[in-house]
Amino acid sequence: MKKTTEEAFNSKNIRLTTMRILIYEYMETLTAALSLAEIEKHFHKADKVTIYRTLQTFLEKGLAHKIPDENEAKYRLSAESCAEEDHNDTHLHFYCKKCRQTTCREEIALPKSLTESLQIDEIQILAKGICEKCLKSQ
Ligand SMILES: [Zn+2]
Ligand SMILES: [Zn+2]
Repeated sequence: MKKTTEEAFNSKNIRLTTMRILIYEYMETLTAALSLAEIEKHFHKADKVTIYRTLQTFLEKGLAHKIPDENEAKYRLSAESCAEEDHNDTHLHFYCKKCRQTTCREEIALPKSLTESLQIDEIQILAKGICEKCLKSQ
């Protein structure tokens, strides 16, 4: 069952604030990762520092993860199963050269044996190519 925003925040010990809820619920509707600039653009009336801090909180608490991209980092909510102390960032990311969208490929993750024996805080596996959608429309 899908968690409500409140449940998701509570499970990561994140205090509910209006801005946090807005950003979380916006990111939840998207399938692709977003850059800070894109998030700022969507919330153009909001204070940029607040947006940045909100994302930092999401990262620290494991609610979201940061993805290396062509020129700038992108942000995406983490899979629900990911607990605060157990960041689920060890999967492949895919950048489509055509639609320029970065997506999480949780099905391509590092083997558990490796993630259990090492403490991996951050991983940068970025594959580039053409995504399923763009391949079909070619
Ligand atoms: Zn594409
Ligand atoms: Zn990801």
